[in-house]
Amino acid sequence: MNRSEALDRLSDSSESWDIIVVGGGATGLGIAVDAANRGYRTALLEQADFSESTSSKSTKLIHGGVRYLRSGEVGLVRESLRERGRLLRNAAGIVKPLSFVVPAYRFYEPFFYGMGLTLYDLLAGDLGIKSTDHLSDHETLKEIPNLNPDGLHGGTLYWDGQFDDARLAIAMARTAHREGATVVNRVRVKELVKEAGRVSGVVAEDLVDGNSFRLKASVVINATGVFTDSVRKMDDSQSSDMIAPSQGIHIVLDQKFLGGETAIMIPSTDDGRVLFAIPWQNKMLLGTTDTAGVEPEICPRPMKDEVDYLLDHAGRYLVEKPTLLDVRSMFAGLRPLVLPNKTSGGATSKISRSHSLTVSDSGLVTMAGGKWTTYRQMAEDAVDCAAEIGALSFQPCSTHDLTLLSEENEKGGEWIHPHLPYTSEDIERAVGGEMAVTLDDVLSRRTRCTLLDANAALEVAPAVCQIMSQMTGAGADWIAREIESFQQCALAYKEPTSQSESSVESEGS
Ligand SMILES: Cc1cc2nc3c(=O)[nH]c(=O)nc-3n(C[C@H](O)[C@H](O)[C@H](O)COP(=O)(O)OP(=O)(O)OC[C@H]3O[C@@H](n4cnc5c(N)ncnc54)[C@H](O)[C@@H]3O)c2cc1C
Repeated sequence: MNRSEALDRLSDSSESWDIIVVGGGATGLGIAVDAANRGYRTALLEQADFSESTSSKSTKLIHGGVRYLRSGEVGLVRESLRERGRLLRNAAGIVKPLSFVVPAYRFYEPFFYGMGLTLYDLLAGDLGIKSTDHLSDHETLKEIPNLNPDGLHGGTLYWDGQFDDARLAIAMARTAHREGATVVNRVRVKELVKEAGRVSGVVAEDLVDGNSFRLKASVVINATGVFTDSVRKMDDSQSSDMIAPSQGIHIVLDQKFLGGETAIMIPSTDDGRVLFAIPWQNKMLLGTTDTAGVEPEICPRPMKDEVDYLLDHAGRYLVEKPTLLDVRSMFAGLRPLVLPNKTSGGATSKISRSHSLTVSDSGLVTMAGGKWTTYRQMAEDAVDCAAEIGALSFQPCSTHDLTLLSEENEKGGEWIHPHLPYTSEDIERAVGGEMAVTLDDVLSRRTRCTLLDANAALEVAPAVCQIMSQMTGAGADWIAREIESFQQCALAYKEPTSQSESSVESEGS
């Protein structure tokens, strides 16, 4: 995957595309894989880095969503569990099974959770991982040594999937490229081009060198997450908003606060929210929140009240209680929730996590909402629709069994920092074959240094920048600019913004 080759293809005005995908998060990348795999000439344009927006800030679970059973969304759970099974097979190096314990602090909870999670297993059918088990107090504490034993009534152990979201995004970009798509980051769609009232292409700008170019396409797909409405307004400035962004944050702590390799799932804290404490890359992820009333942005910042909420609740369930001083990193993402009625407001936690496919009068196809877990199904639906709208010869979807490219197992060599499990080969691969342009691309998404330990990432930044500049030939000015810009960016992972006006509303991922 080479950026300048991709740009050469894009700026070749003789080229006409079957499908242009706007947006390189989970949704857009999934669509590019599917469309290219069906043989359509496909281009994908991402204004920032692949997955830089929401898709690198998730809870990192490939899951059916136990809590959706409570809201009766059985269809969504069944679909997600089916996709979970496929991803465990098709992206085996990146998506792995993970055990969770739901601890019980009321006598009836083991029975209640046992029933719900057995239904969860049944809905997974042949694609299930392992069966749900009841655990005694002793067995529960063996799984989660730092769990508060006071008042414990055992626990329920169940299985779901876990992944590295930004690495899966890169695997998808590389797979789309392998299947023949042209994918590129740091290229923004500024305008939609129309002929006879139909969308027939885009005007895009390379944000690295400022060059603009015009691309023709049979159909354009808007896959821009929380930015969906801005692209819909390029098509029809009068269109009403369909997305209600909702912020969710995570904090990263040392794994000793969990004590083992099993995650904790609190289905309903005493104020009715879901809380996950998850082992990830030898750290513990704690999340999440659901804060409504936020504006779309690529790198939102955690708010102090969100961080306090997570620390306070973790303290209720753990013996050794984490404080702000223990936080190694924190990150925020925005859920692209689709309003049931485009003009209505209301609590974001009540909005369904299922996806929405719409086609405008001028033929702009928009795929929005959904979850990481269901990206493949979303892509299948979007490409089926795009083929019809763009009058392309119909080719059936065959991504159900398509193995995604992955290099997750190629590890070895000296770590770049005692707290960061990456080597100089990881940096070289990021720049040489994974289209990393900035220091932040390398430290936050090709590797996950900034998410694992923001201070360690800052310490290693100059050395990583040196490796990058040796590969690209960039000079001292570039190094100075990149380090300064990364220092600004890392701030968002180090400290929350002050108390927000908006309230922390409800429920988890
Ligand atoms: C806190 C949190 C936790 C979550 N946890 C989970 C989980 O554990 N499991 C799960 O399955 N799901 C989870 N989700 C949901 C999942 O992360 C999202 O549904 C998914 O990442 C959305 O992907 P997307 O591609 O639609 O949006 P995005 O990732 O936002 O991608 C859209 C892209 O479009 C680009 N773009 C916008 N405008 C333009 C333009 N004009 N030109 C070019 N590019 C443009 C943006 O830069 C952006 O990169 C979570 C979400 C949040 C917020």
